[in-house]
Amino acid sequence: MSKKYIQAIKGMNDILPIQTPLWQHIEEKIRHVLEAYSYQEIRLPLLEKTELFSRAIGEVTDIVEKEMFTFLDRPDKHGKADSLTLRPEGTVGCVRAGIEQGLFYNQIRRLWYMGPMFRHENPQKGRYRQFYQIGAEVYGLSGPDIDAEIILMTARFWQHLGINDLELQINSLGTASTRATYREHLVKYFSDHHSELDADSQRRLHKNPLRILDSKNPEIQALIEAAPQLLDYLDEESQAHFTGLKQLLDHIGITYQVNPRLVRGLDYYNRTVFEWVTKSLGSQGTVCAGGRYDSLVEQQGGHSTPAIGFAMGIERLALLLSQNVPDNTPHIYLIMVGEKTITQGFSLAESLRDALPKLRLLTHCGGGSFKSQFKRADKSGALMALILGEDEIAKQQVTLKYLREKKPQISLAQTEIVEYLSPFFSN
Ligand code: ATP
Ligand code: MG
Repeated sequence: MSKKYIQAIKGMNDILPIQTPLWQHIEEKIRHVLEAYSYQEIRLPLLEKTELFSRAIGEVTDIVEKEMFTFLDRPDKHGKADSLTLRPEGTVGCVRAGIEQGLFYNQIRRLWYMGPMFRHENPQKGRYRQFYQIGAEVYGLSGPDIDAEIILMTARFWQHLGINDLELQINSLGTASTRATYREHLVKYFSDHHSELDADSQRRLHKNPLRILDSKNPEIQALIEAAPQLLDYLDEESQAHFTGLKQLLDHIGITYQVNPRLVRGLDYYNRTVFEWVTKSLGSQGTVCAGGRYDSLVEQQGGHSTPAIGFAMGIERLALLLSQNVPDNTPHIYLIMVGEKTITQGFSLAESLRDALPKLRLLTHCGGGSFKSQFKRADKSGALMALILGEDEIAKQQVTLKYLREKKPQISLAQTEIVEYLSPFFSN
């Protein structure tokens, strides 16, 4: 059958009404925790200049090499067109905004954002081309205490969402000079095993060998396991920073695994990196990931500003929580039979919404017989129907019918309805 309608773009999903209650639930819980730690929201453009991402994330990374949605803007009056990119992540835009708006200099900022990101990946469960992230970034603090705060806050997300199968992995990437020394040893090791590397890794060997450690190809995992470890090359200060973080986590009772092969897929990280991982989503197991990026603000043209942040994918959280979709069916369906009942029915509905803010009241629109309206009431999933017909109007009453329980219908004076319903819907 030929499809006449235009379909959505591959990897870009509609989040349907059946899914949105869960998404709203996740967003609300996380927003609540962010507020409890006094983080402030920032809202940023979806489009930025391409150069911003290629410079910050690194030319030889999956994102910049093959995952960005990039296109030319319309030319200006001189015929010059900028290359623009749909943001693949949130940190770089946040850094750009902070520098441009003067948010960082001599200040401490704890920020968070939420919204869609775009990466041209191979779509599969938990991996899409448009996906949603909630992330947080802290600027102006360089010690391990803020690293611990960030990790504690993420742990509290899982606690509030009721997710308990996530494992925390941490590592330290040291400084740029630690990595330079380590890089030489790593290149030597992988060069000695050149024929065992896949094509991607062979290409990366001299351009960006640390990225090989981030490879998801199962065939080279054993080779990666046996590679020299960055932790053995750490400078003293980074070592002390990492020890400080581990001590804080130990003290507060957060369990973690040190994963010496955790390097993260972006170039701007240094020192602390971490991921929260689940075994239940296959190779899409990283739910939340982050780390320190102390040189990015300066590299992008700002004053030197230490920074740390993380981002998590809402789709992956929704997959983990798909068994606990919150109920958003209406509580009450208001049936109005006969034209004269509509004005009174609407007033009644508004007064119920005023008096009972927790009530989900669905008002019938579109007329029709009692029978057809009653069918709709039943289909809506509502617990009760309120019925307003000409009889009821004459007596200033309303009929209440329980739709899910075997209870007799009752007649209530319109003045009594709120009192009758409030025990059900007041909290
Ligand atoms: P992965 O290793 O799974 O590709 P990543 O290291 O590229 O992830 P980050 O850039 O650190 O991911 O993004 C942070 C989080 O955003 C991830 O842990 C994941 O939850 C989510 N995420 C990243 N890419 C996607 C995607 N294409 N679809 C859905 N969620 C994603
Ligand atoms: Mg990725």
